[in-house]
Amino acid sequence: MEKMQYDVVIVGGGVTGTALLYTLRNYTNIENILLVEKYPTFSELNSNSQSNSQTLHFGDIESNYTLEKARETKHASEMLLAYLNELPEGENAALVKKCHKMLLGVGEEEVKFLKRRFSKEMRELFPELRYLSKDEITAIEPKITEDRDPTEEIGALYSEKGYMVDFGKLSTSFVEHSKSCKKTGLEILLGTEVTRVKRTSDGFLLSTNKATYTTRTVVFAAGTYSLYFAKMLGYGKNLSTLSVGGSFYYTPHVLNGKVYRVEKGSVPFAAVHGDPDLNFPERTRFGPTATVLPLLEKGNFKTFSAYIKTAGLNGEAMFSIKSVLSDPEIKRIMAKNIKYGVPVIGKYSFLRDEARKIVPSLKYSDLKFADNTGGIRPQVIDIKKRKILMGELKITGNNVIFNMTPSPGATACIQTAYEDVDEIVRFIGAKFNRELFKKQFNQVNSV
Ligand SMILES: Cc1cc2nc3c(=O)[nH]c(=O)nc-3n(C[C@H](O)[C@H](O)[C@H](O)COP(=O)(O)OP(=O)(O)OC[C@H]3O[C@@H](n4cnc5c(N)ncnc54)[C@H](O)[C@@H]3O)c2cc1C
Repeated sequence: MEKMQYDVVIVGGGVTGTALLYTLRNYTNIENILLVEKYPTFSELNSNSQSNSQTLHFGDIESNYTLEKARETKHASEMLLAYLNELPEGENAALVKKCHKMLLGVGEEEVKFLKRRFSKEMRELFPELRYLSKDEITAIEPKITEDRDPTEEIGALYSEKGYMVDFGKLSTSFVEHSKSCKKTGLEILLGTEVTRVKRTSDGFLLSTNKATYTTRTVVFAAGTYSLYFAKMLGYGKNLSTLSVGGSFYYTPHVLNGKVYRVEKGSVPFAAVHGDPDLNFPERTRFGPTATVLPLLEKGNFKTFSAYIKTAGLNGEAMFSIKSVLSDPEIKRIMAKNIKYGVPVIGKYSFLRDEARKIVPSLKYSDLKFADNTGGIRPQVIDIKKRKILMGELKITGNNVIFNMTPSPGATACIQTAYEDVDEIVRFIGAKFNRELFKKQFNQVNSV
């Protein structure tokens, strides 16, 4: 039997892969770990601060989450907050900033929806959540009511407990705190792309653009590519993917905190919202748009064939995607987003139908398309059920894990790492110091 070079290989240096690295290094006795990232730095894709909305999701202002999803998300966000709160002050300040947040309802129907949403169960789960009247909204976010038609009804769910997180810098923080742990056996290869994975009698053979490696277990934390590798190993045959690209617009600073809008239950991603940007405090960011693209990386047309393989475009998968896209709500969203892509008219439509719903006084000249922002949400489709599955997903095979991470995947990174480590130690008979983990992440009763 050939000696395996590694116990665990992690493919992907975004927030999911680096959180896993951190957890393995600090809470297990596993010594031979390799992390492989194809780009020269960590988090160049979805975890980059300019690719996502920088929101630490709790589930309180995400109107498309079920109560169960809200509960899970709150749990995951609290784990990440526990990590952030333990960091030295300077490091913490570079990664996270507190800000208030609200879910804005515009028009009678949305306001009614908000009032229903503010149920006893939601209030119990989120005791700090409040319902705001128009006057209360004005006091907190004056631009929401300035120049608004006085007959238009508005209301909001509001919490002071909101956070912006730079998930890209967070990845680097996880790596640094993995290196500083007093153990040997860590190797990190940047600029190294895994091109093939093959199962062997006692593990896996990973081919990269530089060399070949053997490992007992492998975790694909490869974002939009995880399902691609799952299919390479014969997993996820019942799954397909819809790549939903998102772009943002910048305006001058018009909002003090995060302002989300009501989105209907069948839609797996948030409606356009307005957010402060951690890295550009003088601006407000509106977005993301939602455009279906046959790619795994935005603007990288070389990823077309990998998308086709990931989506598994046989008759059944294509029929399933078509069926998902025929859902009236998804169809409506896709149609308006196609419009936003049209030069000149697109920006005007975005201003009228999205940005001005939040800040009515915005002018055409206030809006600047934010170049090179917004990643791809890899929405997973259940081919048999012909529906989009909500949120992050995992395929666990024999000594292999694949993490698929549309939003709120970045928020859930520690939770995902916990679940992965739980499996990995079972795979290879290693030890996981759950007590220490629970202590650090305040999970006394819940994990
Ligand atoms: C528009 C938008 C807004 C979002 N907003 C939020 C938000 O506000 N809050 C939130 O919690 N989540 C949000 N998300 C989701 C969040 O960005 C992702 O869930 C998260 O970044 C996923 O992290 P990841 O590490 O799994 O994937 P990624 O960050 O994509 O990292 C995967 C890594 O794997 C590497 N890789 C891929 N293939 C290979 C290979 N063959 N070999 C080696 N390396 C490879 C890639 O280079 C990449 O670095 C948003 C996403 C989008 C697109």
